[in-house]
Amino acid sequence: MSARPEWLKVRFNREAVDEVADLMAKFGLNTVCREANCPNRGECCARRTATFLILGGNCTRNCRFCNIACGAPEPVDPEEPERVARAAAELKLRHVVVTSVTRDDLPDGGAAHFARAICAIRERLPGATVEVLIPDFKGDRASLDAVMAARPDVLNHNVETVASLYAAVRPQARYARSLEVLRYCKAAAPDGLTKTGFMVGLGETEAQIAALLDDVRATGCDLLTIGQYLPPTPQHAPLARYVSPEEFERYRRMALERDFRYVASAPLARSSYRAQEAVEAARARP
Ligand code: SF4
Repeated sequence: MSARPEWLKVRFNREAVDEVADLMAKFGLNTVCREANCPNRGECCARRTATFLILGGNCTRNCRFCNIACGAPEPVDPEEPERVARAAAELKLRHVVVTSVTRDDLPDGGAAHFARAICAIRERLPGATVEVLIPDFKGDRASLDAVMAARPDVLNHNVETVASLYAAVRPQARYARSLEVLRYCKAAAPDGLTKTGFMVGLGETEAQIAALLDDVRATGCDLLTIGQYLPPTPQHAPLARYVSPEEFERYRRMALERDFRYVASAPLARSSYRAQEAVEAARARP
């Protein structure tokens, strides 16, 4: 892998990261920020934001871009949703983002646990908005219904990459199924916001990106993030190339032409990066 270009170099704010890590340890919680080794941790922790990772630290899938451990799933902790709410309150979050490992071992994929987390956050932080970044639940509609019944402000599900790269990058997922998750959730709550994200630099072409934008927008999706793929280790899917900031700006314009309500397209944009700003911008748009 060639040396990272300047635009991907960020300062690691150790003090802020440790402070948030201590708080999470106090509540016995995981964050995707740490598990995925997100490059934005310094900045997000300095703003006292983090994305909660529920349902354990081990994933039942083996996506080739992701740093989260794949292994034996852990027992579901019924107290976890309440601890998430308490930690969010201690961080004084006004927008709470919750995601999970994929739990194909659970009959509902963990949907009821997501719903409990949404309800616990609402109870403890009635003024906050709640975003859930969900797995595909194998497309199970009862699971999606369970999450949507808890009325998240933002339903986020990442398509992650273009259709042709699924077999290599997300072998246990299906492009069409992810699109259907977005379509179904938007239809279930037309006034709510849906959101997705994908990575570039995995070998996709611009024509494939245009097709992805068309496909995602056709589901009614409102918010979009586009970021640079960075292989966590040499064993992960190889990096095809670094995409320049100018090219990200071109993708942003391509997406805005398709009338997404909000688009973050930048080398270090991640699904939950400045998520509160995204919601506020989308809601402020006429
Ligand atoms: S961008 Fe998201 S995952 Fe990364 S540190 Fe910020 S909140 Fe965490």
